[in-house]
Amino acid sequence: MTVVRPDAVVVGAGVIGAAVALELSRAGRQVVVVDKAGAVGHGSTSASSAIIRFNYSTFAGVATAWEAQHLWTSWPDHLRLTGRRPLAAFRRTGAVLLDSPAVAPSETAALFERAGVPYERWDAPTLRGRLPGIDPGRYWPPKPVDDDAFFADPSGELGALFTPDAGYVDDPQLAAQNLADAAAELGARLLLHHTVVAVDRHAERVTGVRLADGARIAAPVVVNAAGPWSGGLNRLAGVGGDFTIGVRPLREEVHQVTAPEDRAGGPVVADLDLGTYLRTAPGGHLLVGGTEPDCDPHEWIDDPDEADPRPTARRFRTQVTRAARRFPAIRVPNRPLGVAGVYDVADDWTPIYDRTALDGYYVAMGTSGNQFKNAPLVGRFLATLIDRVEAGHDHDGDPVRYRCDHTGNVVDLGAFSRRRPVRADSARTVMG
Ligand SMILES: Cc1cc2nc3c(=O)[nH]c(=O)nc-3n(C[C@H](O)[C@H](O)[C@H](O)COP(=O)(O)OP(=O)(O)OC[C@H]3O[C@@H](n4cnc5c(N)ncnc54)[C@H](O)[C@@H]3O)c2cc1C
Repeated sequence: MTVVRPDAVVVGAGVIGAAVALELSRAGRQVVVVDKAGAVGHGSTSASSAIIRFNYSTFAGVATAWEAQHLWTSWPDHLRLTGRRPLAAFRRTGAVLLDSPAVAPSETAALFERAGVPYERWDAPTLRGRLPGIDPGRYWPPKPVDDDAFFADPSGELGALFTPDAGYVDDPQLAAQNLADAAAELGARLLLHHTVVAVDRHAERVTGVRLADGARIAAPVVVNAAGPWSGGLNRLAGVGGDFTIGVRPLREEVHQVTAPEDRAGGPVVADLDLGTYLRTAPGGHLLVGGTEPDCDPHEWIDDPDEADPRPTARRFRTQVTRAARRFPAIRVPNRPLGVAGVYDVADDWTPIYDRTALDGYYVAMGTSGNQFKNAPLVGRFLATLIDRVEAGHDHDGDPVRYRCDHTGNVVDLGAFSRRRPVRADSARTVMG
C-alpha cells in the first residue's frame, strides 16, 4: 500500500532530519519525515549538551560552526514561524578552550582568523582573572581518577583560546521541534511511531521506503538522518560499499552537578588537558561531559536501542572528579545525576553530508557528538547538494561549494564526503 508520494523522505526527526526537512520544504519539495520515536528530537538530540563552539580541526568545520552560530542568534528569523509558541534560545556565554597537545592552539587560532571568528589568547594569569576559582595547572595527559598520578602536581600552567560568541542552546529537543514545526508550516508531513524497515530501489536509483506496518512511501529522494542508527539504515539500503569512512555508535554520559557560586553563568570550558568539558545550565547547574581521553574505556555498542539511558556511578565520578580538579569548588556527589546518549561516530569524527552510489539516496550522518550546533546549516547543505545533484551535477568529481549568507565563507562540501581520505592528523575526539 502506498500512503503518499512526496518528493523526498527524510528518515529521522532529530535536529538534523528536522533541519533537512525545513530546507527541502523551502526549496519547494513535498517532504515526509519518518521517525520511529513518539516525538521530534527524542533520539540522540535529546541528550545533547547543545554547546555552540567554533574549534574544529578543519577550515570547513570552523566555517560551518561560525555560520551556524548566526542562525542560532537569529532563531525566530531563521524559523519564520507564524503564531506564538515556545522557542529554544541561544545563551551567549563564550567558550574557553584550554591548551592541550590534542588541539594545537596555534592551528586553531589560524583557522579562527581565516574564518573570521573573534577570539582572544589568554595566558594563565588571565585565566585566573577571568575564570575565578580555576586551577590552570597542566595535568596532561588525562589519567583515570583512581590512578595516584591523577593527583600529582601540575607540570606547568595552561593558557587558553577564548571565543566570546560561543554558548549553548537551552533546549535541544525544543530546537528540533521548532525546525519540524517550521517545516510543517510549509507542508512537510511528520510520521511518528513509524519505523523504516526497507529502502526500495530500481536499478541504481532509490524509489522509496517501506515501513514496519507494511506501508510504502514512494519518493525519488531519501535522506538518511537516522543519527546513531544511520549505519544500520545504510545496510538496509545496500549502501556503504564505496565509503572510506565508517561509523560506529558510542554510548556517552553527560552529568549534572550544582555549580559553585563563581561558576554560575560562566563560559563553556573545553578541557582536553584533563579530559572533560563543562557548561552552565539554567537553575544553577553545570553539565559535565567527557572528551574521550585514551585512558578511558570507550563504550562502543552494536545497537543504539540497547544503550542504557541511565548515568553510571563510575563515569559520573570520573567526569565530575576531573571537573573538580579544574574547579576545586565543584563538589562530587555520591549519587550520579545526568543523561546518557549515543554518538554516531565517524572514523575521523567528522560528519558525512553527501550523496551515495545509490542515486537519490543521501546521508546526513556520522555526526560524532559534535553537530547539534551545525544542524540548521546542515539542512541548507543537504538542500543545496540535493538540488545540484538531482539537476545532474557531479558532486563526487567537482564538490559543491556552499557560500555562507552571514559570514561570506565558502565551505567545500567535499570536506564531508563519504569517500574522503581519513586524515592522519584528524581529531579522534568529540572536538572533531
Ligand atoms: C550526550 C551527547 C552530548 C552532545 N553534546 C553536543 C554538544 O554539546 N554540541 C554539539 O554540537 N553536538 C552535541 N552532540 C551531538 C548532537 O547532539 C548530535 O550530533 C545530533 O543531535 C544528532 O542529531 P540527528 O538528528 O542526526 O540524530 P538523532 O537525534 O539521534 O535523530 C535520529 C532519529 O532517527 C530516528 N530513526 C533511526 N532509525 C530509524 C528508522 N529506521 N525508522 C524511523 N526512524 C528512525 C530515531 O528515532 C531518531 O529520532 C551531543 C550528542 C550526545 C549524544
